[in-house]
Order: sequence, then structure tokens, then C-alpha cells
Amino acid sequence: MRVALALLLVCAGQAWAQAPDSTKRPLARAGTTAVTAQTVPQVPATADVSAYAPRLVARPDLRPAGIVTQASERQAARIKGAVCGDPDIQGETMGNIGGPGACGVEGAVLVRSVVGVTMQPAPTIDCRTASALKDWVATGIKPAVGTTGGGVSRLRIVGHYACRSRVGGGSANNRMSEHAFGRAVDIGGIGLASGREITVLTDWNKGQAGAQLADMWRSACGIFGTVLGPNANAAHRDHFHVDTASYRTGSYCR
Ligand SMILES: [Zn+2]
Repeated sequence: MRVALALLLVCAGQAWAQAPDSTKRPLARAGTTAVTAQTVPQVPATADVSAYAPRLVARPDLRPAGIVTQASERQAARIKGAVCGDPDIQGETMGNIGGPGACGVEGAVLVRSVVGVTMQPAPTIDCRTASALKDWVATGIKPAVGTTGGGVSRLRIVGHYACRSRVGGGSANNRMSEHAFGRAVDIGGIGLASGREITVLTDWNKGQAGAQLADMWRSACGIFGTVLGPNANAAHRDHFHVDTASYRTGSYCR
């Protein structure tokens, strides 16, 4: 009886010892890596999960109803504050502005911000110019500044709609300025989140900020019909003038 039991245990022991080796495994498909004992993730023995279960299951959390409501309220506010049919341009619709003589703006808007960057103060311009300003901030100014000072937070506006003639244009001085039609904006500085400002007057041609200003100036050319900076003339030593006048010859950038 004892011998029989011992024999049974020995046989059973041999069967267990051979079990893993004799188990048939599915063949790996061409181009894939076979799963081996080495590639199976090792989990601590105490973990109450299978060694084959993914260790980190990326499962989206259900958002609390409050957050969903806040997000849709924000979206509704963005749409409500949008002008020119673009949620990235926030401001107020002003309609047609009549001025003395030829001056005036058709479909004027007061632009408070574009792509989250505050205009200080809000310029009065037309939608074509507002849209160009948005494109410039998004594709030119923001990339030029990058993470410097925490990024761009505002543009210091030193000129927008004004019924006046051109300045600093030499013989063309008596022509009406694009400002007189709400098609131009003057920018004196680019405010950073840190509170610092990249200033056209003091930073042009100087160090990193000078290089960033040069990048901004270059990126405006093409988006706007006219781009003038400190290199154009003394009247523009302290600001960038950008306008959406169109020329048959393409953009005029100096
Ligand atoms: Zn100007």
C-alpha cells in the first residue's frame, strides 16, 4: 500500500514537472513577437491580478457633471463673445462707422482678444484685419515668443481706427492712411505672461528679444498687405504698422 502511494506521487511529480514544456502554445503570427515567459509582465506576487493583465489600463474617467457644464458654459460664452463669426476673435460688433470725408469702417469690430491674447486697448478694425491679426498672433507672434516669459499674453496697441493721412511715407504723405478705414493696427509691444514686455522701441535689433521681433516682423509679411517697422522710417521706430491694403505687386514690407 505504502509503495503504491509513493509510486503514484513520483509519477504525478513527473507529470507536473513536464506540464509547462508540453503545453501547446499558439504560434506567433508573422511579423509579431512571440510571447514568452520573459515578455510577460512581471507583477508582484501580492498583486491580485493575472500576470497577463495589462498593468496600466487607460480607461477614461467619467467627468463629473459640473465640469461638463462648466466647459459648455465656457464654449457658449466664447461663441457669444465671438465677432466676425470666429470664436478665436473675441470682442464686440460695432457695425458701420461713418467718419468725416472718406473716413469710416464698414462692419467694424472692437477686438478684445485673438487666440487668447489680449489687445490692450481693444482696437477698432474691420473683420478682414481682425482675421489677419488672429493669423499673425497664432502663426507668427506666438511661435516667435515661444515660452519666453511664460508666452505672449497681450499686444500693446498704439494705433487703430483714426481718420488721418499717412505718416512717415514721404511723398505719399497726403494719401489717406489705412487707419482711416479700420484696416490697420499699430503694435508698440508684446506683453509676456511674466509681466515683461518685448518693446519695439528698445528691443529692436537687440539680443534675443530683437531676434524675436525680427521673426514677428517677417511673419507678418504676407498675412498683411503692408508691414512697417523701425527699418521703414523714423515714424515707425517704436511700433509695427500692419494693414490689409492689397497691392497687385504683393505685400509691401519694410
Ligand atoms: Zn499705423
